[in-house]
Amino acid sequence: MGRRVSAARVKAHRCYTVEEAADAVNATPQTIRVWARQGLHVLAECRPILILGCALKAFVDEMKEKRKRPMKAGQFYCMRCKDPRGAAFGMVTFHRGDVSGGEMEAFCEDCEGAVRVKVKEADLPAWSEIYEVDGSDSRDP
Ligand SMILES: [Zn+2]
Repeated sequence: MGRRVSAARVKAHRCYTVEEAADAVNATPQTIRVWARQGLHVLAECRPILILGCALKAFVDEMKEKRKRPMKAGQFYCMRCKDPRGAAFGMVTFHRGDVSGGEMEAFCEDCEGAVRVKVKEADLPAWSEIYEVDGSDSRDP
């Protein structure tokens, strides 16, 4: 956990073996094999299998893009883990902004760093089902 996958060191015009690709993006060879099954383009006619740098870059970038989608209820984007994470100890604190919603605050279940996420009023019941929600919820302070 906590690995930072990045395509920054991948050279677009180079060919990588699974091991080299794993090293270049800071993942494990196992992860690269999983990606290959998930759609990472590999030169399967080569033995050992080779991966084009540009294909590897495109796959990692697309994966990161997908992660920018709004979090599901109960998830925070942890800046330290660079991944969606749940709240530690099953506890979150709600800070009301206005009638439309506010911010949920908690600690990352993985690194225990502080995490926050904007939550809409309509999503509050879903959060309450997952966590013990602390904090004042009065609409008329
Ligand atoms: Zn974290």
